[in-house]
Amino acid sequence: MASLNPGAATALVPELFPERTPMTADQIGAGIRAALEVQRRAVSLGKRPFAAVLVGPDNGSVLLTHQSVDQVNHAESSLARLAYSHYPKEFLWRCTLFSTWEPCGMCTATIYWAHIGRIVFAGSNDQLYELTGPGNKENFTMDWHTRDMLKGCPQKNIEVFGPLEVEGRTVIEESDKYWSRTRRPANPS
Ligand SMILES: [Zn+2]
Repeated sequence: MASLNPGAATALVPELFPERTPMTADQIGAGIRAALEVQRRAVSLGKRPFAAVLVGPDNGSVLLTHQSVDQVNHAESSLARLAYSHYPKEFLWRCTLFSTWEPCGMCTATIYWAHIGRIVFAGSNDQLYELTGPGNKENFTMDWHTRDMLKGCPQKNIEVFGPLEVEGRTVIEESDKYWSRTRRPANPS
């Protein structure tokens, strides 16, 4: 079997890969703050602390938002499916999916299929595992990363920013209010 050629889709179907506007640090901060606001509301309504927003090609307009619904309907994959039903591929390639946390395997793959050209996340999967702890019924955190998943998807060059130091600290601090109530005690007596 022939191996996948890096950038093959970009070279062979250029109309689906229009140029993306480079993202500034201020835009990154604003996108994460928008996602965090969705997460904050979700947690106040009893959901887990995960949220995502889709930002348009201008790197500023929030087009769609999604919270985590449950353990199989994650914020990022739910948002990616919604985005794909709203917008054409060549538009989505210039959009960015912002997430408070690093997208898991299911979500990264859905973002790939939805043809969203950029991912920005604040907290990493390793940091999430520290917060949830082992055997947390609300989230059996996986041990792998968005970039690892995308290494297996070389036909498209999806940009990834994250984890972010400053925004990540805020996300961790806020999310821990939820996880500290659900993780198993370190030394159960
Ligand atoms: Zn996920």
